[in-house]
Amino acid sequence: MSAKALSLILLPTLQCNAACDYCFEDKTKDRLSLERLAEIVDKVLDPLGERKIAELTIHWQGGEIMTLSPSWLMRACAQIDEAAAARGCTVSHGLQTNLIGYHAGWNDPIREIFGNRVSTSMDYPNLYRRRRGREAADYTEIWVRNLHRARAAGIDVQVIAVPNPATLEMGAERFYAYFVDVLDIRSFQVNTPFPGGSPNAVKQLLPLDPEPLARFYVDLADLWLARGLASGVRVGPFDELLAYFQDQPALLPCIWTEDCANHMISIDARGHMAQCDCWVASYPDYRFGNLFESASLGALLRDSSVLARFHQRPMALVQGGCIDCDYLALCHGGCPVRAYSVYGRLSEKDPYCALYRAVFGHMAAAAASLARSSARHLVSADPCGPETLIAVGPSTHIFPE
Ligand code: SF4
Ligand code: SF4
Ligand code: SF4
Repeated sequence: MSAKALSLILLPTLQCNAACDYCFEDKTKDRLSLERLAEIVDKVLDPLGERKIAELTIHWQGGEIMTLSPSWLMRACAQIDEAAAARGCTVSHGLQTNLIGYHAGWNDPIREIFGNRVSTSMDYPNLYRRRRGREAADYTEIWVRNLHRARAAGIDVQVIAVPNPATLEMGAERFYAYFVDVLDIRSFQVNTPFPGGSPNAVKQLLPLDPEPLARFYVDLADLWLARGLASGVRVGPFDELLAYFQDQPALLPCIWTEDCANHMISIDARGHMAQCDCWVASYPDYRFGNLFESASLGALLRDSSVLARFHQRPMALVQGGCIDCDYLALCHGGCPVRAYSVYGRLSEKDPYCALYRAVFGHMAAAAASLARSSARHLVSADPCGPETLIAVGPSTHIFPE
């Protein structure tokens, strides 16, 4: 781990109040106690201080985080912040929830700990998100109701959406209109589905066919450029890719970091540690180790042969299928868990390679076109304008899928 900032995906519970068909987590009844949390916090924070990693971001997930109580989460975060302050570290907290268990009792912790912001997930149309034994429509109804309640309480709700075959058939226009015009979502991100965890009939449809998926992404990018960009709507990954190709600082998703194992770890309620939530919950052979059984985080990471294999992947891809790619410096071969869940090997490039290339090319062209129109505007508006533009190099960062 060599970054100056670290993201920790913390799964204090592996229980969930939903049973989504494409869920990649093998759920259990395990829950983290505050005593066990203190042990994790000490072992994570000590080496951060030693390595001068001043910033830690904890992404609270599950399972479903709202199967825990708001008061437990308040106590847990207070405990962490106190331990961090004693070591001179800063911890920020993010909340990923399905909103199904949201009620007014969550408003205080969301405001006080999470900056009055949550991230949630919904698809359009929703085919696969459901409660056990219920239809997807029941889930959608509860989610929409709770979305409105949360926003009425002043909470900023960001959405992650995963396309499915019906999304592609329906097209980008209706998808964009649902989130932006109907639900008034001002920030959402589109993620690609992958067949992680235990196989089932829905996961057999994955990965999605890259050709219609690429058409959908490109159409959605164009809709956002035409209707969302100027009005402050953010649609990921297009907004950050545009910034990247405009040589501005960009917060790219973890799938395109140079080596996600440098920036992120995940720990579950049993103390297991792995690259991210799918690995820790569903692929025991790919865990880095167990923090409760290790003397320290440093010892666990140093001794992990699995972590070494993650670090080897980017170079293996540079020497393999990605060497001639124009976008290698941006994509780095894509996401390890998408590759593994499809091909059964870490050493493969991301199965959505063709999609990425299409989207990168499109957003690079969009950035060039915007630069040309802004140059034309500058020339006509100010003939004495600057001749030299100073390019600020793009920087990568991560946030969870
Ligand atoms: S995808 Fe999320 S909300 Fe759905 S069952 Fe899995 S953990 Fe629960
Ligand atoms: S989702 Fe993929 S890129 Fe992101 S941390 Fe997990 S394995 Fe790495
Ligand atoms: S776009 Fe494809 S070829 Fe290029 S770096 Fe990514 S996975 Fe490799």
